[in-house]
Amino acid sequence: MDNISRCCTGKMLYINVAICLSALLLVIGLSVGLNVNKFKGSDALDLAPLIDGHNDLPFNLYTKLSNNLTAFPFEEDLSDDPVWGRSACSSCFTDLPRLKAGKVGGQFWVAYTECASQYKDSVQLTLRQIDVIKRFIDLYPEHLKLVTSAADIEATWRSGKIASMIAVEGGHSVDSSLAVLRIYYELGVRYVTLTHVCNTPWADASTVNNGSVHNLTEFGKIFVHEMNRLGMLVDLSHVSHNVMREVLAIAKAPVIFSHSSVFSICDNYRNVPDDVLHLVKKNDGIVMVNFYSKFVNCNSSRNATMQDVVDHINYIRNLIGVDHVGIGADYDGVNSVPEGLEDVSKYPALFERLYENHEGEPEWSKEDLEKLAGRNFIRVMTKTEAVRNSLSSQPPYENIISIGELISAQISDGLKPGLCQTAKEWETNVSSVTNDTNASPGPKAS
Ligand SMILES: [Zn+2]
Repeated sequence: MDNISRCCTGKMLYINVAICLSALLLVIGLSVGLNVNKFKGSDALDLAPLIDGHNDLPFNLYTKLSNNLTAFPFEEDLSDDPVWGRSACSSCFTDLPRLKAGKVGGQFWVAYTECASQYKDSVQLTLRQIDVIKRFIDLYPEHLKLVTSAADIEATWRSGKIASMIAVEGGHSVDSSLAVLRIYYELGVRYVTLTHVCNTPWADASTVNNGSVHNLTEFGKIFVHEMNRLGMLVDLSHVSHNVMREVLAIAKAPVIFSHSSVFSICDNYRNVPDDVLHLVKKNDGIVMVNFYSKFVNCNSSRNATMQDVVDHINYIRNLIGVDHVGIGADYDGVNSVPEGLEDVSKYPALFERLYENHEGEPEWSKEDLEKLAGRNFIRVMTKTEAVRNSLSSQPPYENIISIGELISAQISDGLKPGLCQTAKEWETNVSSVTNDTNASPGPKAS
């Protein structure tokens, strides 16, 4: 502006006035133009909370520190840390500075225990993980807050904290017990993934591909009904394609895929096939796209890139609409992520890329980006709570899984039935199921 004011006070007034006016108009025009184009895709994350459906940091806390939180320097940037840095740990992507840089507004922290614990100590191990998530949240009250309702997500995010929610990944963690499921809900768990990589006695995992071992049994259907009654989100990431279809045929509330991508682009059975995507639309559910390199890029001859994730997001949007897609990156649960999405600080880059609207891609408005970030998920959770409220007069399901189902499931897993330490339901007619006397539940000692 100095040059402009100097020229305006010069002697060749008339000529200069014209020049000055032109310059001023140019400045005004430019600033108007800049204002129009000022919005960046990442700005959407200031308008709506970015809610990520799946982060496995709690499992890293377990394997690296036996859940000793005082040894975890969460408030430091751990990118180059000798324990948690990228060169030391291939599955470590999360700390507070990078979550803040990533504008994360809501996060599902995952209570996960390995399938090897099925029929053994899976419930205790899962409780330990729920405990460490709760202690972790409590340790950083200025930055994290436990959230158990849809309405509290946005309020928490607006207060500058990350809305922290608890998930249980894998039906084996529930040990085929509706009682355990209900107690998890009371502890604050808001979604359960019906399987991990192992079948449960009542639902098949994605490792079954498009086939069937148990599919979704009658008990499995009751399990889904009880989740709907409780207001627990049903997560279909990790289940077989047929179980996806079975659940979507009976679910009363919208389902989620907390961390899955598109099967048509990458034919890993962890991903969602097109016919199921159409069912998700009908169900008003959401697929939260997984960033894992091997789920977004099945072409192993090149590294996965952010463009792969963009392609999965756009595919879902084009097929079933912008209301049914979200983000479930799977950080800390995988050991390879795409170039450009190296850790939890990178979500803004993804949103900026989507807003660029490259040729052949759908056009993303501010509102669309807000939906992708978190508004779709909040809608799904709100609706799930409404279903819960509508079922409030219905008593809890008292169904128990039969010992026959447990034993045949163990046999199909190659286990010797009865040697496992699962808490069996009392049932007298065991001999009709197996001749293995070890399988019989003995009478209570006292
Ligand atoms: Zn997973």
